[in-house]
Amino acid sequence: MNANHQHRLPAALCHIDRLAPEIAECACPVCETFAHSEAEYFGRAFGDSRRFTATSEAVTDTLGFCARHGATLLSQEHLLRGIVHVFRDVLPRLVPLLLEEYIHEDRVQQVFFGASSACPACAYGDRAAARHTGRLVRQFSGGRNQAERAPLDSLCIRHFQMLAGALKPEIRMTALSRYLRILDHAARATKKLLRSRLELDALPLEHGAAGLHSTLELIGGRSVPEPCHDGDALAEALQRCPTLAEAIAYPNVCPVCLELSRARRRWIHDVPLAAEFKQIGWLFFPTCPEHLWTVIRLGDSKLTGTVITHALQVEIGHIRQQIQALVRAAEIEEELAREAAAFARSGTRSKRKTEIQKPITVRPAQCPACERLAIVEDYATGSMLELLRQRKHRNAFHRGYGLCMKHFAQVYLIAPKGVLRSILAEGQRDRLGGFASMLDEMLRALPEHETTVMGEAPWGMALHRFCGFA
Ligand SMILES: [Zn+2]
Ligand SMILES: [Zn+2]
Ligand SMILES: [Zn+2]
Ligand SMILES: [Zn+2]
Repeated sequence: MNANHQHRLPAALCHIDRLAPEIAECACPVCETFAHSEAEYFGRAFGDSRRFTATSEAVTDTLGFCARHGATLLSQEHLLRGIVHVFRDVLPRLVPLLLEEYIHEDRVQQVFFGASSACPACAYGDRAAARHTGRLVRQFSGGRNQAERAPLDSLCIRHFQMLAGALKPEIRMTALSRYLRILDHAARATKKLLRSRLELDALPLEHGAAGLHSTLELIGGRSVPEPCHDGDALAEALQRCPTLAEAIAYPNVCPVCLELSRARRRWIHDVPLAAEFKQIGWLFFPTCPEHLWTVIRLGDSKLTGTVITHALQVEIGHIRQQIQALVRAAEIEEELAREAAAFARSGTRSKRKTEIQKPITVRPAQCPACERLAIVEDYATGSMLELLRQRKHRNAFHRGYGLCMKHFAQVYLIAPKGVLRSILAEGQRDRLGGFASMLDEMLRALPEHETTVMGEAPWGMALHRFCGFA
């Protein structure tokens, strides 16, 4: 937390820092590395012509970018030339993958199955974060005492878990116990804040809720920007297309992206309502950084406090389970060692049937918002296929935008062989053909209009084909 920020905190709220001084400094170093690598990625991938081929290969392998990095890409006006070159190179690589006769080829299956979660910019950032975490793991494992192991205290939960996962069990136990104490401190401090309702309501709001800043960084890491590209265009599309049947005829937006955007807006609307009825909060309150930051941006301090308290409790529960699992694993190991020693002494297995305990499997809780959106996405891709069985909807689909590459991959893979699969593949190839003509046109016009073409709607819409809309 910088000095300016600290200065703006009302006195009543500063005890959060006194309670847990470690987290007051929390600009998670791994989050910082990830953010820097994101900024670096686009300059390298689209700014250095020697890397264009590698970038094209990566973009082909992932069928484009995630929605958030797609939005970043669209804002990189100074890299326009590189972006146009790379995508012009991606298209001829991609078209053969869309030939129906190749659908069962390993490469097609590999690319299309992995596409929904794949993004070259995310992969670049993840690699940088993994290298940084690797250094922290070595530093933490080599530290002889608490002082030498200090970096742990500034990590956000996600990056702490990355570190913990790479530590040897004995050291992981130390890390988990220490991090649990930090979370407990933060949970108590947030609870106090929530009780002092009056001060909380009077908080000057900056990025949502200034007084909860340090706990936010701990639970959510560095602020995650909104993935949405063009709110107005999406809002208009949502209004004009109350259901998927209208959306498949709409010319400017991928209909599955539109359904996701609708579900996301509904979820955002429902979170404050759920906060009024505490018992259903767990169905709505987010636990992943992206959705935590979505709620934080609503700017309601009390809601932020409630949601953060919930996320902290979920994480505390998760870490307690991890500790229990480690204890159980150590007990099992001890038991097996005792049995082995007895066998070595007597040469016979003990007649006594010893009950070896079962290990505990721990999985982090799925974020309810992520879960909701995944269900909506599955349902929308299934419904698309249902609609496309009818000729009138197939005609509407021809007139409409079609699908972004990510959603095309999902629908195409489950489309039954025959007319449905054919119209999907043909339609997508035609649309990519249109994109190729646009890129050729842009390459011819580029020297004069290098920075003006970027903001134009058709170019933006075309590029969304590779990164979705929501
Ligand atoms: Zn972090
Ligand atoms: Zn990404
Ligand atoms: Zn889409
Ligand atoms: Zn989520």
